[in-house]
Amino acid sequence: MIRHCPHCGQANKYTEDRKGKNVKCRVCEKTFFVPYKESTESYWPLVILFLFIIVIVLICGSIICNKGGSDRGSSSSANRTTSTSGARTPEHNLAIINNRGWVSEDDISVRRFRFLLGKLDKLCVESKKQIADMTVSAQEILANKYGKDINLLSMMEEMYKTMLISSPSGGGNYAETLAIQITMWGTGG
Ligand SMILES: [Zn+2]
Repeated sequence: MIRHCPHCGQANKYTEDRKGKNVKCRVCEKTFFVPYKESTESYWPLVILFLFIIVIVLICGSIICNKGGSDRGSSSSANRTTSTSGARTPEHNLAIINNRGWVSEDDISVRRFRFLLGKLDKLCVESKKQIADMTVSAQEILANKYGKDINLLSMMEEMYKTMLISSPSGGGNYAETLAIQITMWGTGG
């Protein structure tokens, strides 16, 4: 076995039976204790743990950076959800998706979406956020499955009319009605 002298750094070769005993360095002739494991070996678990923590910190950092990036309103696909930012309201997100680009918060379409979400919220069991997300998903289904490009605002206007007829006193199921409506939009003219 090779053991380094703590006084001069010389690598000395000893027989295995010197473990747990004091040995003499061949170069500086000072004595030192030989532990059962060389001290540098016992650092390895700590070094590995330290590297592991660094990797975790880097991964978390990049996740936070990516989230920040999509929050800044780029036109990436990540933007096609109404949950990109806590600051934006569902109606503002809907207006941005509808416009396929940025619109200001006082845009007329934002006000229209706000009105529709408010009405649908009262007519349906789902929350405004769920209603908004489902309508966006429905638009994607229509584009991907049926090749239909239907305006988001028109979709929600029609959903409002349908819900008003089917559940005028509230308690309506937006998800169910939307599923039927998707088939109608998808297969219709
Ligand atoms: Zn030495």
